[in-house]
Amino acid sequence: MFSYRHAFHAGNHADVLKHLTLLAALRHLQHKEGGLLLVDTHAGAGLYRLDQEQARTSGEATHGIGALWNAAAAAPAAGLPVPAAVADYLGRVQDLNPDGALRQYPGSPALLQALLRAQDRLTLFELHPTDGRLLDRAVRAWRERTPRAAITLRRDNGFEGLKALLPPLSRRALVLIDPSYELKTDYPQVAAVVADALRRFASGCYLVWYPVIGRSEAHVLPRRLRALAQRAGRPWLQAELAVGAAADAQHKAQAAQGHAVGGLRASGVFVINPPYTLAAQLREALPWVLDRLRQGRGADWSVVTGEP
Ligand code: SAM
Repeated sequence: MFSYRHAFHAGNHADVLKHLTLLAALRHLQHKEGGLLLVDTHAGAGLYRLDQEQARTSGEATHGIGALWNAAAAAPAAGLPVPAAVADYLGRVQDLNPDGALRQYPGSPALLQALLRAQDRLTLFELHPTDGRLLDRAVRAWRERTPRAAITLRRDNGFEGLKALLPPLSRRALVLIDPSYELKTDYPQVAAVVADALRRFASGCYLVWYPVIGRSEAHVLPRRLRALAQRAGRPWLQAELAVGAAADAQHKAQAAQGHAVGGLRASGVFVINPPYTLAAQLREALPWVLDRLRQGRGADWSVVTGEP
């Protein structure tokens, strides 16, 4: 069941889109003093080595964060401004790589914990035994560095566990729902979890990542999320990033099989109750990102929003 390991994909174009969006949303929510509940229902290992076997085998980070990292290093000399959301994201990656060589990449738990304020709480779920162990080790290190940080790790099912956390006492929450879509049932389960979360706590900010692939469930999911947001009378934002592909046989075969990760060319984020600044930030950031990550035909980006 659990063959997916995020270490092969950490720092790829899909992570770039997801983590940029996550950080920009969190930054905005933290403009208010009130405490936030942060939840990562599918947390992964927390942080990743890019100079070790899994990342090197796939090479995905090279065409994602690696390309942005190199472009940003060259940008000042070329007099090119880096969009604010990208600069913030790259700054968090730089915090892990202070000597300038890109060796480590922060997963969503590392990004969230780095911005945790005294009044915020972070709950992470991870079901994979190995990634759960790695995340446990990372969380212990974060707690040692910041003993008062309110971080809870549950090596448990995030789809199930979210229910008990909503509504939060603080009445403010940012929830990342980021499954691997290894199982076909992940798609309807995401929609069911979001429907339930909106019933329990309609004003939470819910951020769902999804792959854009040739599989009907993947097409249906963002449409269902849009319908859920509209039914609940909540604003929403949908952003997609497609890096495109040379039309080679391997990519065609993978797309035909509906692979969610190997050969992934495009992905999206669907945000319910997005901060009002998010659309403008992504519209500024994504063209810049795409210019650095573009791989071939079909490269594109979009940001669409809806009001209740
Ligand atoms: N959110 C992470 C990030 O951005 O760095 C990446 C997460 S990865 C795409 C999905 C993770 O969910 C995998 O590590 C997988 O083991 C885990 N997983 C799969 N099903 C799960 C479930 N029902 N509950 C919690 N974790 C699950």
